Amino acid sequence: MEKYFEIFISSFKDYARYVGNEILNPHWGNYFFWLIGISLFFYLLEIVIPWRKNQALIRKDFWLDAFYMFFNFFLFSLVGYYAFSNVFVELFNDFLAIFGVENLIAIEINSWPVWAQLLTLFILRDFIHWNVHRLLHRVPFLWEFHKVHHSVEQMGFAAHLRFHWMETIVYRTIEYIPLAMIGFGIQEFLLVHLFALAIGHFNHSNIKVPLGPLKYVFNNPQMHIWHHAKKMPHNYGANFGISLSLWDYLFRTNYIPHDGRDEPLGFEHVEEFPDNFKDQVLYGFKKERD
Ligand SMILES: [Zn+2]
Ligand SMILES: [Zn+2]
Repeated sequence: MEKYFEIFISSFKDYARYVGNEILNPHWGNYFFWLIGISLFFYLLEIVIPWRKNQALIRKDFWLDAFYMFFNFFLFSLVGYYAFSNVFVELFNDFLAIFGVENLIAIEINSWPVWAQLLTLFILRDFIHWNVHRLLHRVPFLWEFHKVHHSVEQMGFAAHLRFHWMETIVYRTIEYIPLAMIGFGIQEFLLVHLFALAIGHFNHSNIKVPLGPLKYVFNNPQMHIWHHAKKMPHNYGANFGISLSLWDYLFRTNYIPHDGRDEPLGFEHVEEFPDNFKDQVLYGFKKERD
C-alpha cells in the first residue's frame, strides 16, 4: 500500500516540476509552447480566411474554451491524473504478475523504423478513439459528460479542448491495454500527440480549406461541424472521427448532407445547459436533471 502512496506523491511532484520547467524553459520538445503556437496558427487562419465571415473573433465562450484548453492539457494532469495513472499502471502490473504475466506486449514494434512505429501508434490510437467517441454518444451516462463538448454553439479552434476531464479518464483507460500490447505505455510520443492536437484544432476551426480526396482520410471542419449539429440524422449522431475521417467512411457513419456552414449547433435544450466551468463539470455527476 505504501508503495502506491509513494508512487502517487512522487508522480505528483515530478509532474509539477515538469510543468514548471516546461513554462520556464522554451525548447523544441515543449508542450506548453506548442499548444500556444498551434492555437495562434489556427486563430490567425480564422482571422485571414474565415468560413463564417460574420462570426465574432472573440466568439461565444471563447475564454471559457481557452481555459478548458489549459485545464485539459496541463492542469488536469498536474492536479492528479498523471499521479493516479502511474498508480493504476503499477496496480495493473502487480495484478498481471499474479498470473505470471510480465507485460502485455503481443507485437514488439520497437524494432521497427521510427516512422513505422509513429504511424502505427497514430492509426491504432485514432481507431480506438473513434470507438470510444461512439461509446460517449451511445452510453447515456457517458453522454451526460460528453455534452460539455457538444454545448459549443459557435465553432472555433479552441472548442477542440472543451471537454469534461472524465473523457480523459475514459479514453486513457480504454486505450491502455491495446497500446501496451504493442509496447507503448501511457507516455506518448510528442510528435503523434502534437499532430493529433493540430488536426483537432483544424477540425474545430472556422476556416475552409478544401482537402480534395484527402477529405476521405483526414477529418476537417466541413465534416466535423455536422458532428456538432443540433439535428442529427441518427439517434446517436455521425462523423465520430477524431483525427481521421476514414473510419466514418469505412463504417458508414459519415454524414454531410449539405454545406454546414450556418447549421445550428448543440443538442436539444442546449440553452438550459450550464454556461460556466464549475457547473459544466458537476453536471454529469448530478443524479437529477430536469
Ligand atoms: Zn461527440
Ligand atoms: Zn468536436
